[in-house]
Amino acid sequence: MANSRYAWEIPKTNSVRLLKEHRFEYVKSFEQPDVLLPNTWIVVRIDGRGFHKLSDHYAFAKPNDRRALDLMNAAAVEVMKELPDLCIAYGVSDEFSFVFHPNCQLFERRNGKLVTTIVSTFTAHYVYKWSEYFPDRPLLPPHLPSFDGRAVIYPNNRILRDYMSWRQVDCHINNLYNTTFWTMVLQGGMSNTDAEQELKGTLSADKNEILFKRFGINYNNELEIYKKGTVLYRQYELEEPKPTKSLADEEAPVFESKQSKSQQDKIRKLRRKAQVVIDHVDIIKDEFWEKRPWILSGNPGKLPA
Ligand code: ATP
Ligand code: ATP
Ligand code: MG
Ligand code: MG
Repeated sequence: MANSRYAWEIPKTNSVRLLKEHRFEYVKSFEQPDVLLPNTWIVVRIDGRGFHKLSDHYAFAKPNDRRALDLMNAAAVEVMKELPDLCIAYGVSDEFSFVFHPNCQLFERRNGKLVTTIVSTFTAHYVYKWSEYFPDRPLLPPHLPSFDGRAVIYPNNRILRDYMSWRQVDCHINNLYNTTFWTMVLQGGMSNTDAEQELKGTLSADKNEILFKRFGINYNNELEIYKKGTVLYRQYELEEPKPTKSLADEEAPVFESKQSKSQQDKIRKLRRKAQVVIDHVDIIKDEFWEKRPWILSGNPGKLPA
């Protein structure tokens, strides 16, 4: 090839173009677009891979290891801080759901970019902070934590809230079961299979009764972090709850893409200024959302004095 320095260069007279557009360039077109539908809530849920085994290996307390939950929450707070576009997150066990507002334009809403950024940022902080929470249990291969992740879009506030409620109900059901199961085993001296057999087909009321009558445990007195999981959001001044409009059909959405670049930057800055708080409260009822209208509206509230 007379005018090429390398075999992969397509001989052309313009040497600058030669370097950029060579004959392998076409492979780029195999990349598939994966942009998520505009103006919808995006939830990225991550979940620990094989945490059943990992929790055994590092001797997590049963049914709830407080250090492990605090570590999950600390890593998630860092994710919220690094990505001001996130408006709320909810975590339980080895999972966390991170929520982007419908007007989010981060990475042009590309699925792969959003999910991988969340998963790797979370994992990096989880590993970095491990020794702070488990000083006596150094993290060693092959027992290293990793997380999978997926993005799901939800078309309106009602469905987004139903998603959040679903995760919190799941937390409650699992925690009541696990608390009862492990009390029967650890305090009642039952075998795992016997406890499992007895709990098969029981309702919530039955489990509450087993805990109370046999072990004197009132489930209501268990820690909120175990019963309700963890919700993270940016803190502004709470507002007087006022009845929200019909949740299914909100006011006309503001596309962030229609906001000017400087407007978007300003909102990001305001979000960064707000403190990310860790809460263990009911997110199923309206009250949580009515007092914190900035979460669903995406408009930063008033910073507390
Ligand atoms: P997968 O890879 O399919 O997610 P997994 O083993 O991670 O499998 P999960 O359904 O995600 O299974 O369940 C996570 C498990 O991790 C729980 O069942 C529990 O055994 C353990 N676990 C997670 N967090 C804690 C914690 N804070 N305290 C005690 N155990 C925990
Ligand atoms: P994005 O967050 O969109 O991925 P980015 O800045 O990471 O943005 P990439 O398209 O991923 O951009 O490109 C990676 C860039 O990082 C390269 O253009 C190059 O400048 C730099 N880079 C990556 N690996 C090396 C390396 N081994 N040595 C020097 N520079 C590198
Ligand atoms: Mg898991
Ligand atoms: Mg899980």
